[in-house]
Amino acid sequence: MCGTCGCDGAGATIERPTASHHHQHGLGGHAHNHAHLEADPRVLSLEIDLLAKNDAIAARNRALFAERGIVAVNLMSSPGAGKTSLLVRSLERLAGIYPVAVIEGDQATAQDAERIRACGVPAVQINTGKGCHLDAEMIEQALPELNLPDGGILFIENVGNLVCPAGFDLGERWKVVIASVTEGEDKPLKYPGMFAACDLMLVSKCDLLPALRFDVDRLEANARRVKPEIDILRVSAETPDGLAPWFDWLKAARVAVSPAA
Ligand code: MG
Repeated sequence: MCGTCGCDGAGATIERPTASHHHQHGLGGHAHNHAHLEADPRVLSLEIDLLAKNDAIAARNRALFAERGIVAVNLMSSPGAGKTSLLVRSLERLAGIYPVAVIEGDQATAQDAERIRACGVPAVQINTGKGCHLDAEMIEQALPELNLPDGGILFIENVGNLVCPAGFDLGERWKVVIASVTEGEDKPLKYPGMFAACDLMLVSKCDLLPALRFDVDRLEANARRVKPEIDILRVSAETPDGLAPWFDWLKAARVAVSPAA
């Protein structure tokens, strides 16, 4: 169950795309439905238990990433902000330079993981079923499938949702929110939990700005109202140098994680 919205995450599956092993396994084991338990104090304690369990696994993930010098980045946004396109373009550039791997979260389908694998990058798809976010246990279970070497970059594309993913620590080093210029400038004010949780906001699809009435300065001001210290980069996945600031950011992130890298 999601401690944020109360959705039932039962039935999440993880795709294991190795040649001899192409099928889905159940994840989690919270095979119960709490929709009828509202106002029951037991629900509150159950949520606290679930979040405590998540945090304990997240701490394990974080320790593993630190020990192995892995840059783990949790990418979050509303549906359609361009997470997968940005990732595909990033991987086309980064895959020859650094070891990279991707965990894809969606409620259904393996389409995004297939797009990633088409770039020659290892990817595991997690389908959350009725769930609205990835949790730390899903990451812990998916990681061994990827064989990511030490010093690599792990991109985690969370389920497209500006609410619940913000509430679940995955053990990542950085949380990144992608806000596209085809959305509203007021997104940070409407979903402050997400923007407050993130270290970096990528303003995506900036190549479309000439065709839009969108005030990027106002979006950035709104994000800084919610989180004054948030980093902000304007990017485009569709222009030749449109992702350069993001690549510089990742390079610095990699140095921060393993100074010798
Ligand atoms: Mg996607």
